[in-house]
Amino acid sequence: SLLATGEPSVVPVAGDRSVGGGGFTVIAGPCAVEDETQLMTLAREVRDHGADLLRGGAFKPRTSPYAFQGLGGEGLRMLREASEATGLPVVTEVLDVAGVEAVAEVAHVLQIGARNGQNFALLREVALTGLPVLLKRGFGCTVEEWLHSAEYLLMAGNGHVVLCERGIRTFENATRFTLDISAVPLVKRISHLPVVVDPSHACGRSDLVEPLAAVAAAAGADGVMVDVHHDADAARCDGKQAITPEEFGALVHRTGRVLRGL
Ligand code: PEP
Repeated sequence: SLLATGEPSVVPVAGDRSVGGGGFTVIAGPCAVEDETQLMTLAREVRDHGADLLRGGAFKPRTSPYAFQGLGGEGLRMLREASEATGLPVVTEVLDVAGVEAVAEVAHVLQIGARNGQNFALLREVALTGLPVLLKRGFGCTVEEWLHSAEYLLMAGNGHVVLCERGIRTFENATRFTLDISAVPLVKRISHLPVVVDPSHACGRSDLVEPLAAVAAAAGADGVMVDVHHDADAARCDGKQAITPEEFGALVHRTGRVLRGL
């Protein structure tokens, strides 16, 4: 296996930013890019509160076909502007093979969503861009299946892979998915890839995001990715799980304390 051996890998992102190697990377931003003002304001706020990378979907994989599907190419343009204005590299999802080229022109990290974790044609195409890849765990995938997906990327010649645990489907429905925290120390033991945790998509409720981020830090995750919005009630996508910029600041502070063992 390409995963089992070697030193823990460090995934270079842009400039002096990387994921893994003992640092703790904080990725934050809206679930979906909604408009210029929303994105620009949030990007500045999350940067000022300590985010390392900006997240935001221009192409959204929504369960319902009637839900907001994202701004597409316009959203990509807004991501580029927000990145240039703040200096934050961008993590954004690519939904299909046809979209790889356009998304790769803007993204510093290409996100493979939970619903595409086993879209092997997409994995291959994304790997060939040479950009770092954030590989979400499919919510119906075992750890072994998730790591096999990572191996598709490595086998296509792209070793810059960051795993992302984002909750799996279990019998428990009090939270949206069940954050499989065991997967964090496990994949760090059986692979050399960095792993980040997305507490927002895992639990689906804003009040649990900070405690789950703290737990991720305690479990040895290489970072977290969180949804932030200044007006969650008006959010066009997953408002229930969005925390405010101020709450995000508190989350960064608390995970920092956990990491320092305070
Ligand atoms: C996301 O991070 O925007 C997202 C859609 O997450 P997931 O693929 O984990 O559902």
